[in-house]
Amino acid sequence: MKRHLKNDERGKVNGALPRRPLNSPLIRSNRFWVVILAAAFALCAGAALLVWRAPGERTLARITVDGEVVREIDLSAVTGEASFVIETDRGSNTVAVRPGGIRVAEADCPDHVCVKQGWLEGGAVPIVCLPHRLVITLVSGGDDGALDAVSG
Ligand SMILES: [Zn+2]
Repeated sequence: MKRHLKNDERGKVNGALPRRPLNSPLIRSNRFWVVILAAAFALCAGAALLVWRAPGERTLARITVDGEVVREIDLSAVTGEASFVIETDRGSNTVAVRPGGIRVAEADCPDHVCVKQGWLEGGAVPIVCLPHRLVITLVSGGDDGALDAVSG
């Protein structure tokens, strides 16, 4: 009983103290928490962006001739520049790859539009060699189904 009374008294004494010295540290701590929360939010947003971007960084280059897939290259797995030849009934295209990019380096087609298109490193515009009916498209990781639905 005595202790209880003492506590009550202490509470009364504290409550009776002037409010200003109590309020200023409260405001300070509120600002502190706002800063902490803002920082936490920024971190979360950054992390979310990173996580969200990660699958998109895996980029597949899909080479089709006459609408049929002849080769798929994981451009995010390419470490250096390399090239290979795609032979078709209509002619040949020398395809070059580098980390994250693909292009037609040489072709024996009459217009060379595919060669002039240069490096394909993103975006939805494919490299097209009309005379050879060769198309190179970029496919972001995980979007296979959607892209197939669009092309089919
Ligand atoms: Zn061409």
